[in-house]
Amino acid sequence: MMARPYQRQNIDRRVDNLEGHDVKWDLSVCNLLLLQSWHFKKTYKTYCETSPSTWHFEMWLPEVRDDGTCSMTVRLERIDSLEVGLEACIWIDFCDTNKNLIFAKQTFAKTIMLQGDSIRDTVELKTLPNMRGAIRRNAIVYFTIMICFCHSDGESD
Ligand SMILES: [Zn+2]
Repeated sequence: MMARPYQRQNIDRRVDNLEGHDVKWDLSVCNLLLLQSWHFKKTYKTYCETSPSTWHFEMWLPEVRDDGTCSMTVRLERIDSLEVGLEACIWIDFCDTNKNLIFAKQTFAKTIMLQGDSIRDTVELKTLPNMRGAIRRNAIVYFTIMICFCHSDGESD
């Protein structure tokens, strides 16, 4: 039987700023080691007044191994058709319940993204020193997606 993560806060927490729009999701996981195959997907739309955009995000964590290693695949695809190139960044932090990082912070970014463009990456993760035990305890995965330069030209004046 596949263990399901308990999704504590799978709601969009939106923060708008001068350069763009951030969205955050925090997901609680009971035990990373027992997850086996965790697939997290979200479709997200910015409410930008100038250049609203729509994105499909996926993260796949096939297996966390006993030795604290795992591979993580992320994909963020732009699916709206507005002809404005946008920058996207993804931050993913795996933390224990005291906010100590279990793996190093993961960031992915790409500029000038149009419809059909995507960020795709697979990275190998390894638990940080003294954090290997954390894969057997409650953890929280913090996702942040930033969409930038939709209502500014990216240049300061
Ligand atoms: Zn905007």
